Amino acid sequence: MRNVLGAVCVSCGAEHEAGDDTYTCEKCGGVLEIVYDYQYIKTRITREKLAANKDHSLWRYRDFLPIAAEAKLSPLRVGWSPLYRADKLGEALGLKNLYIKDDGLNPTSSLKDRASAVAVVRAVHAGKDTVACSSTGNAASSLAGNAAAGGLRSFIFVPDRAPAGKLIQLLIFGAIVVRVKGDYGDAFRLSAQAIEKYGWYNRNAAINPYLSEGKKTVSFEIAEQLDFKVPDYLAVSVGDGCTIAGIWKGFKDLYAIGLIDRLPRLISVQAEGCCPINRALANGLPLAPMEEHTMADSIAVGVPRNGEKAIRAIRESGGIAVNVSDEEIMEAMRLLGSLAGVFGEPAGAAATAGLKKAVGQGLTPGDALAVSVVTGNGLKDTAGAQRAAGAALHIPPDLGLLIGEFRRLGIRP
Ligand SMILES: *Cc1c(COP(=O)(O)O)cnc(C)c1O
Ligand SMILES: [Zn+2]
Repeated sequence: MRNVLGAVCVSCGAEHEAGDDTYTCEKCGGVLEIVYDYQYIKTRITREKLAANKDHSLWRYRDFLPIAAEAKLSPLRVGWSPLYRADKLGEALGLKNLYIKDDGLNPTSSLKDRASAVAVVRAVHAGKDTVACSSTGNAASSLAGNAAAGGLRSFIFVPDRAPAGKLIQLLIFGAIVVRVKGDYGDAFRLSAQAIEKYGWYNRNAAINPYLSEGKKTVSFEIAEQLDFKVPDYLAVSVGDGCTIAGIWKGFKDLYAIGLIDRLPRLISVQAEGCCPINRALANGLPLAPMEEHTMADSIAVGVPRNGEKAIRAIRESGGIAVNVSDEEIMEAMRLLGSLAGVFGEPAGAAATAGLKKAVGQGLTPGDALAVSVVTGNGLKDTAGAQRAAGAALHIPPDLGLLIGEFRRLGIRP
């Protein structure tokens, strides 16, 4: 890879080669970050070249991705999700300049596709025919979908309590799904043992440093879609921390090659019932595990593996941390849906709930240019959506009864 210089440990700074089997730091076990040759990339990525590029997927930024020049790209159209200007929603949040990045419109309906697309391309190029991970959620379904498109087999390890809807997505994508009689920790351990035994490609954001590189493409798109105007504030929901760290890396990459002239401030949004990263940010103490009490299952991560990387990113950006309740998340789901036509899963709408709170508390000024990332589609979790949505009118086919119901409920026909 001509564009990649190596990988550096975010904990101890040890330098590594960026190879196929590069995962965590050999010295301290810390998470690695990929380092690029910005002088080289500067000659390859310019505003003009991007404007002329007709590839409307994350591969338009391949010079900024850790994939070999000759690597075969996956056919699935990942990335280039829409960035909507949302004036009505902005009004409800107290913001004059609000944009929504709808990443629920990716092929398997979450931002995780950006990471899985890179993982699959790397796996194929490394000569692997099988990929694996353990997860109950979007990482799993995106790996299964991207693997299917890339011609790979996938093994997914899930805990016993994995929700039916998510199991179905995996099975339809042809994954071999191993439902482990135990909790997530048990599924993780068994998957690690099997990956070691069979030599499968390991798609696990906890240890694979290439995944947040895929996620950073969402920032490239936001910048490009705003004509390289940089948002003042960018709200992201945070679980493991890999996503927000990737988003920060994306803006820093653009800054390093001079495509943007400043950086946004990050708003790290976690659930009140599970907020180890925001708690560490607020009290300045090391990360400590938390229980996982929130309806936003995709960000219910009590022991984040990319926590340190995330905290560094949020601090460096001059960012803020906001925790939201399930009630606030459900309100944001209704606001996004009814005022912007965007349907987010609870973890996807959480960022918007956090942005609303940040404005309400005076942390984000009303005239700021703000972007909220919707990280996953609402149809992923219909049970959660149903709690937020309320019920339909339910009446016999009679106009008189319909009029009566409108009156009773104060609905203006
Ligand atoms: C994974 C995920 C997140 C958070 O990403 P992390 O890397 O775990 O912080 C947010 N929203 C959705 C929908 C996700 O699937
Ligand atoms: Zn280290």
